[in-house]
Amino acid sequence: MHIIILGAGYAGLRTALDLDRRLREKGLDDVVTLIDQNPYHQLVQEIHLTATAGIGSLDAIYDIGRLLNGRAIRFIQGRVKALAPAIREVQLEDGQSLSYDRLVLALGSEADYHETPGARDHTFPLRTYAGAIALRDHIIGQFTAAAKQSDPKQQRILLTTAIVGGGYTGCQVAGELAVWVNKLCAETGAPRGEARIALLDRNEHILKQFGPWAGHEAERILDQRGVSIYLNTPTESVEHEMLRISEGRVLRAGTIIWAAGIRAPDMIAAAGLSVDHVGRAIVDRYLRVEGQAAIFALGDCASIADSNGTPLPSTASFAIRQGGRLAETLLAEVMGKTPHAYEPVQLGELVSLGPDYGVGNPFGLPLTGYPVILLKKGIEQYYRASIEAA
Ligand SMILES: Cc1cc2nc3c(=O)[nH]c(=O)nc-3n(C[C@H](O)[C@H](O)[C@H](O)COP(=O)(O)OP(=O)(O)OC[C@H]3O[C@@H](n4cnc5c(N)ncnc54)[C@H](O)[C@@H]3O)c2cc1C
Repeated sequence: MHIIILGAGYAGLRTALDLDRRLREKGLDDVVTLIDQNPYHQLVQEIHLTATAGIGSLDAIYDIGRLLNGRAIRFIQGRVKALAPAIREVQLEDGQSLSYDRLVLALGSEADYHETPGARDHTFPLRTYAGAIALRDHIIGQFTAAAKQSDPKQQRILLTTAIVGGGYTGCQVAGELAVWVNKLCAETGAPRGEARIALLDRNEHILKQFGPWAGHEAERILDQRGVSIYLNTPTESVEHEMLRISEGRVLRAGTIIWAAGIRAPDMIAAAGLSVDHVGRAIVDRYLRVEGQAAIFALGDCASIADSNGTPLPSTASFAIRQGGRLAETLLAEVMGKTPHAYEPVQLGELVSLGPDYGVGNPFGLPLTGYPVILLKKGIEQYYRASIEAA
């Protein structure tokens, strides 16, 4: 059997590594092909640190070739262009077509601009490692330019960063930025008094998915760190270094980060697969795409609900655990056995608000402060160790 896995992120890499190990344990020689547009595996849950120089340039990526060293997995670096389920084929941008017996969609997600005029062209979406590097370099450029600028109005624009969206990503980048700005001003000579960070959210509170307690706490901490929070403030359109927000107000900002939602790559819907309102493939309890015997989906590009029908959040922790389960399901397929259903477990979420404070709900219990950071770092280290040693 030939199994193709599209995407070597958290979900795809875990599926590939576990499946390869299990096939070898059983002495099976079925072929696993892993395809990604990049030669590296990116730790997306750490890229807000890359974007704000909280970690080194190369700390959030791993060379895929090195991770796969000594395994039977075939890796192809290439960008997937289209899926052709009727003929069980995947088409790459370089013209290659590959046939499969089973296909795994682990393509992650992209920024959802909600059709906001100008957002795609004038903002930085923080979704990929490459995007994080581009954002970091842009901010350094703006601060360097501000240090040389004599017009105070221009200087203030260059030193203002606006973040659209106060969810997971927006809050984490705001917290890190608040610390980095002090360092950047000291290093570039830009005036600290003119540097601003604005976090805008259309909702009544930030971190809406955690409930009001977490939103209040995050607002308190970010406010203490100099982040201006605009609640109930939808962004209506974006132009070069400018946001038009509610009630005809305008915010000038030399850097605009878009963190206001995600959607799955369009190719999933374009292939005629069943998708939800944000283009994620709808899957059953075996992570099999509705109505498709040979296609599975997981991670950010899959729409999965728990036993109460509540949609699972798009997080790395769910993506990784789904990968482990899907490897078992695929092994069962290869061996002609009945697979076990995927039973999602809510372990909770952790959000950093800078290097030394966070909020979270591990195992459903509210937690704030440095313990959140310690726990988060522990989980990230555990993940790194798991892929290095797998
Ligand atoms: C700043 C930030 C902070 C976050 N923090 C946390 C956190 O603390 N905890 C947590 O659990 N989650 C966090 N998340 C969410 C988490 O990162 C995602 O849920 C997770 O990355 C989803 O894993 P995935 O495997 O589905 O997708 P990804 O990890 O994004 O992997 C998708 C892969 O598909 C590849 N790909 C995409 N399109 C193509 C194509 N056309 N052709 C070839 N390859 C393609 C990509 O290169 C990538 O390697 C955070 C996200 C962001 C942006």
